[in-house]
Amino acid sequence: MVIVLKPHASAQRIEELIYEIEKKGLTVEKVVGSDYTILGLVGDTSVVDIDTLRVNEIVHRAMRIQEPFKRANRLFHPKSTVVNVGNKHLGGGEIGVIAGPCSVESEEQIIEIAKKVKAAGASFLRGGAFKPRTSPYSFQGLGYEGIELLRIAREETGMPIVSEILSENMVDRFARDVDLIQVGARNMQNFMLLKELGKTDKPILLKRGLSATIEEWLMSAEYIMSEGNSRVILCERGIRTFEKYTRNTLDISAVPSVKRMSHLPVIVDPSHATGMGWMVMPMARAAVAAGADGIMIEVHNDPEHALSDGNQSITPDEFSELMNSLRIISGAIGRRI
Ligand code: PEP
Ligand code: MN
Repeated sequence: MVIVLKPHASAQRIEELIYEIEKKGLTVEKVVGSDYTILGLVGDTSVVDIDTLRVNEIVHRAMRIQEPFKRANRLFHPKSTVVNVGNKHLGGGEIGVIAGPCSVESEEQIIEIAKKVKAAGASFLRGGAFKPRTSPYSFQGLGYEGIELLRIAREETGMPIVSEILSENMVDRFARDVDLIQVGARNMQNFMLLKELGKTDKPILLKRGLSATIEEWLMSAEYIMSEGNSRVILCERGIRTFEKYTRNTLDISAVPSVKRMSHLPVIVDPSHATGMGWMVMPMARAAVAAGADGIMIEVHNDPEHALSDGNQSITPDEFSELMNSLRIISGAIGRRI
């Protein structure tokens, strides 16, 4: 971080400011010019509140040289992270595939879909038990009964299970029962929840907020990591733009951007990004071609009668067809699926 001081700042005020900054464990390099004095801060500047500095009477400008995220930053961790999830992993040469219904609806439903997506090549089973629906009158999920049904499906198929958590008071139960805890787009900036998840040792799937910038998304990962849990996987799921034809706008460019900025694995959810089943296949292909470490696909045995997100769900047969094409694309870019 660089601080440019106002001309005529008194020597005493400058020394006071340097003292305050050094108290935080940073080193300050002072450069005295003919008009301006510049302070260069060396060390972990994430402890410095730049807005407080900017209102300091003697500060003309304060600028960050590095991004405000540290633990998620590739600069300090050049090697790409691989996160183990149950007996599988996300990140590395292999492309991870998470598939399953938007919501767990019944034992028969989740078992049937689990077996079919596994046969087609999925590694992880998804299923919402607590649904953050836009309307309070829409199906809210089966709650912990849904988690129990996912556990039965894991027992039957051996697939690690992925499910969305909604609040801090669910952390202990999710940490015990779910292999990969999903933080949904609507909770990306629920900082209390992120901190609690940071105290667990469970892998966290952090979806991008509805209108979050990539930096805000990485700062949310930083919240989890700053509490000690570095097992974070990022999920691009489309963002709000002026376009209304699709449910959201899939930001494919987020994949190479995040891979450049961070060492964390990044996956893509083309189902929520597009909101239309017929568009899931081309967008999933694009995600893999762009270098995503995985994809998350909503698959339903009877999309027409799904209790949530039927319109964007694909059938097990369509999923199988998608997997076949992804095998070709993965091979072409030197990866496996
Ligand atoms: C989901 O995965 O079912 C979901 C609700 O996703 P998002 O948080 O991305 O809307
Ligand atoms: Mn859904």
